Amino acid sequence: MKIHEYQGKEIFRQFGVAVPEGYPAFSIDKAVDAYRRLPGNLAVVKAQIQAGGRGKGGGIKLVKNEVEVRNTARNMLGMQLVTHQTGSEGKQVERLLIEAGVEIARELYAGIVLDRAAGEYVFMVSTEGGVEIEKIARETPDKIIKEWINPGLGLRPYQARKLAYALGLQGAQVKTATQIFMALWKVFTAKDCSLIEINPLVVTKGDLIIALDAKINFDDNGLFRHPEIEELRDISEEDPTEAEANKFSLNYIKLDGNVGCMVNGAGLAMATMDIIKLNGGEPANFLDVGGVANAKTVANGFRLILSDPNVKSVLVNIFGGIVRCDRVAEGIITALSEIDIKVPVIIRLEGTNAVEAVKLLKRSPLEFNVATSLQDGAVKAVSAAGGGVK
Ligand code: GDP
Ligand code: MN
Repeated sequence: MKIHEYQGKEIFRQFGVAVPEGYPAFSIDKAVDAYRRLPGNLAVVKAQIQAGGRGKGGGIKLVKNEVEVRNTARNMLGMQLVTHQTGSEGKQVERLLIEAGVEIARELYAGIVLDRAAGEYVFMVSTEGGVEIEKIARETPDKIIKEWINPGLGLRPYQARKLAYALGLQGAQVKTATQIFMALWKVFTAKDCSLIEINPLVVTKGDLIIALDAKINFDDNGLFRHPEIEELRDISEEDPTEAEANKFSLNYIKLDGNVGCMVNGAGLAMATMDIIKLNGGEPANFLDVGGVANAKTVANGFRLILSDPNVKSVLVNIFGGIVRCDRVAEGIITALSEIDIKVPVIIRLEGTNAVEAVKLLKRSPLEFNVATSLQDGAVKAVSAAGGGVK
């Protein structure tokens, strides 16, 4: 799960990471109110969308007086902000952050992510902040300095100091940066984050070290421990189909292919996507309907799959272990008699009462294509979809 910059900065504040004074605003008047609360005249109006590159896209504007705040807020609220991370349609700006302006001496980068290959976390810093970090990683990877964090030990103070020195910080700055890095690691573990990124982390002309941007992603599997984070969710930022799936407790991930998949169990769902690809097709989604493949979950699953206009066929692959195949078949028949479905449905059921299930499907007035094996099902689904996307 992702949150907005202003929400991330609030968390930073709680953990002692310095951020500029600032207030969120959802309307023009509130933007002006927020500006009035700030100490100086120089301020920044920042569009709150959950994508980076806002600066270049026109989502970050420096302002010096109330008139400028009003005009900028009027222009930004409701605009479709396009950045390299939003796609060409952009994202609609509904929230702003009005923040005290900062005089920047240096723009640095700091971030923590999970390094899956190493099985450890990695803390990264760079002197090249403010720019796209992906570009630096690609073109001048030696400008990113890394310290790996053993999850059992956590970030050690000497590692934080090493990172601070690597940034060319000196004197009191080293101590401040070390404290910030230790605090970031504390946020990371306390809030079950999957990513924290500060780009830029700035050294001000007054020699302070401040997080000017804040990006925090959370591990969805840890969210049940953090109702306070769940509250920050902005549904308008999420893929509508995935948000819908979340509501029905279905695990759905949209993909780019055209063969829809409805499967029980994550492992079987992965295997189903593999075998579709093996037969020259491309899966349109990952969908795990879980252990309860009844009429309701099946109907919700079909609605999700069919909301994707790319879907040209659907492969249902259910293994009846605890759940009985004939029950699943009844579920499919009931669900599909309620939904108007225009693409071929290929069904492979295996396990408990599979024979009875096939009889039910064949007897029903709906046209099902019953597969005799997973391979057979994949071949039929791929060919029904027109032989794959490539
Ligand atoms: P992003 O482009 O979406 O990553 O948005 P950021 O919050 O990182 O802002 C982009 C850039 O705007 C920063 O790298 C800074 O150069 C500039 N910026 C943001 N806030 C201030 C500020 O208070 N003062 C000045 N001078 N520049 C700022
Ligand atoms: Mn940034």
